[in-house]
Amino acid sequence: MTDSYFHEGDLVGVLTAQPLDRLLDYKAPEGGCHLGAFVEVPLGPRKVLGVVWGAGQGDYDRSKIRSVIRVLDVAPMRDEMRVFLTRAAEYTLTPLHAMLRLATRAPGLGDAPSMRKVYRLADGVPDRMTDAREKVLGVLRDYGGLSFTLKELAEMAGVGTSVVKGLVKHGAIREEEAPRDTPYPKLDPDYGGKELSADQAAGAETLRAALRTDKYGTTLLKGVTGSGKTEVYLEAVAECLRMGRQALVLLPEIALSGEFINRVEARFGMKPAEWHSGVTMTERRRCWRMVGQGDAQLVVGARSALFLPFQNLGLVVVDEEHDTSYKQEEGVLYNARDMTVLRAAINGAQVVLASATPSLESWANADAGKYRRLELKSRFGAAVMPKMSAIDMRAEDVPGGKWVSPTLRAAIAARLEKGEQSLVFLNRRGYAPITICRACGHQIACDHCDARMVEHRFLKRLMCHQCGETKPMPTQCPHCEAEDRLSAVGPGVERMGEEVTALFPDAKVAVLSSDLYGSARAMKAHIEEIAEGGTDIIIGTQLVAKGHNFPKLTLVGVIDADLGLQGSDLRAAERTFQLMRQVAGRAGRADTPGEAMLQTYQPEHGVIRSILSGDEEAFWAAEAAERKAAGVPPYGRMAGIILSSPNVQEVFDFGSEMARRDDPLRRIGAQVFGPAPAPIARVRGRHRVRLLVKAEKSAPLQRALAQWAGQFRLPKDLRLSIDIDPQSFY
Ligand code: ADP
Ligand code: ZN
Repeated sequence: MTDSYFHEGDLVGVLTAQPLDRLLDYKAPEGGCHLGAFVEVPLGPRKVLGVVWGAGQGDYDRSKIRSVIRVLDVAPMRDEMRVFLTRAAEYTLTPLHAMLRLATRAPGLGDAPSMRKVYRLADGVPDRMTDAREKVLGVLRDYGGLSFTLKELAEMAGVGTSVVKGLVKHGAIREEEAPRDTPYPKLDPDYGGKELSADQAAGAETLRAALRTDKYGTTLLKGVTGSGKTEVYLEAVAECLRMGRQALVLLPEIALSGEFINRVEARFGMKPAEWHSGVTMTERRRCWRMVGQGDAQLVVGARSALFLPFQNLGLVVVDEEHDTSYKQEEGVLYNARDMTVLRAAINGAQVVLASATPSLESWANADAGKYRRLELKSRFGAAVMPKMSAIDMRAEDVPGGKWVSPTLRAAIAARLEKGEQSLVFLNRRGYAPITICRACGHQIACDHCDARMVEHRFLKRLMCHQCGETKPMPTQCPHCEAEDRLSAVGPGVERMGEEVTALFPDAKVAVLSSDLYGSARAMKAHIEEIAEGGTDIIIGTQLVAKGHNFPKLTLVGVIDADLGLQGSDLRAAERTFQLMRQVAGRAGRADTPGEAMLQTYQPEHGVIRSILSGDEEAFWAAEAAERKAAGVPPYGRMAGIILSSPNVQEVFDFGSEMARRDDPLRRIGAQVFGPAPAPIARVRGRHRVRLLVKAEKSAPLQRALAQWAGQFRLPKDLRLSIDIDPQSFY
């Protein structure tokens, strides 16, 4: 980049988050501005937020160029961040303005800092001392010099707010105005470390040494659930803090629980900054600003936390790195795990990818020596991996419309007798996946999508899992109008709840599925209550596979282990393997050994066999060999192109035109497949067609894709989106 400072009147190029494909020229404001400054600029009649991205182009009538209105009172964007956003935009073929929007997703960044009242110790002496007053003053003395809000102080002292106000009147406490966005409390890296096992200690030392190099590096930290990975990476966080650099721990949204924050607090003495959908707007703004000025040492957040303006990022942990929710599937299509590696490489930071069941991508990178590999071999303490077995459903006598085999039933009964918890796992929300009319055979489908409506008995509605459309459960067939002939086909978790309750009428049964809660908080509360052990049998979807401890759980019964093996998804086997291992890992966390039983109609299937044998390396190696032979990720590159339009003819014609004019792709040896109807060919009334581009690993795919797509003029209501490294094939 050019100069890093612009004097008043100099031309600057400003990037805004508005959908424009170029930088805009402005004159630097009075007092000048730095490269990277966040500014407010006039755009037509509006004022918008932007970043000084470089010198102005000057190819525009200078007299018409307007001035930057003002420089915002936030830390300027650092060079590394501009490089990161630029490279991420190039990688994902996303316009830069959309990347900037991701990086400025905090409300009121342009607002003047707002103030609030805080209270601190003063010299006055109260007329008389009471216990309550003593408590308040005691808190302030303990935190020597710190100030708190009225509510905080009263809560910490365990007294009413009037006590504090009384002390203010006597001059023993001073009331003052302070900015609302306050620095996060300092974390103490040496506060609460645990005594580590030999495995853990060796892993922690490797990570500390890697951090001390001050260079980029990625480590795959592998170990079964409960093996103590979190303890190990918290040691890396501690080292990062000691070095005065900032750390970020990314978790899948669903795993962001109070439980984890409490663990961090127990380790470092104070809570970290948080960044996820459950955080209030004011707290979001505080987090963004404090991260930017280096006053937040550790952020625990969901994938978009990667776009926070860290000043000195030294470490990023991606926990459950295989989790598909790291891929953002709407708007900017990016994979936070991959972008983490990019950002760390630019920043000279370390990355820790933690998982019990790594993605094949990460496994292959470790295998090729690009990532360091650390493994925790055993579970921490007494807990051992559960015993795994298959229940061959071909040999079981299960009545129609029921799914629990006699073998599984007996195993659950045995746990009930011992007062232990069982989990019945089925990765299907709702009551039944299909609603069929017994008179005419009609299946109820969504009006806007090519998908069946799923009955949700709890909500008393039918729901489309593609677009979310719901309608009341009809009593009449919408096709033949027969009365009361609609019937549910196939199981969902709600229906499993009924079946299990009928089998075990005296047991306490709880169904865990995301639809059953009004809010994420209610769901987390319920999960925590279940983990405490108040429930005998848990019926759950993949929600339970993620990040929660159920210490009393000793049996996992998987209703349909074959479910994920169907379908054309390239990652079907990998996903099934991961999910089944994760679910199985829920059993036997404390000191009672666990058992996992998989109901399957194909016990001889390779994936099922490797799940049972627990020979992970064999599974990865076989899966890797297959993908290598097919030239697909991670051994080849892919991009998905999704075209959608209300007009089915138009979208197919356009897709065919794209496939025909594929010169830019052919020049790099890439192939185009399609157009084909997307697996869900209609969503929200839009017809969807997909093309798939395959290339060799070393081919410059993005450049070729950009040239290729750039040849076409899009019809007005046609949308085109390019998905690099697609994860889902919808
Ligand atoms: P993972 O992240 O691999 O699932 P955790 O780090 O959460 O494993 O550890 C599992 C459980 O064991 C947690 O309750 C944790 O507090 C405990 N634990 C792990 N390591 C230690 C240790 N060194 N000392 C005491 N408890 C530990
Ligand atoms: Zn729909």
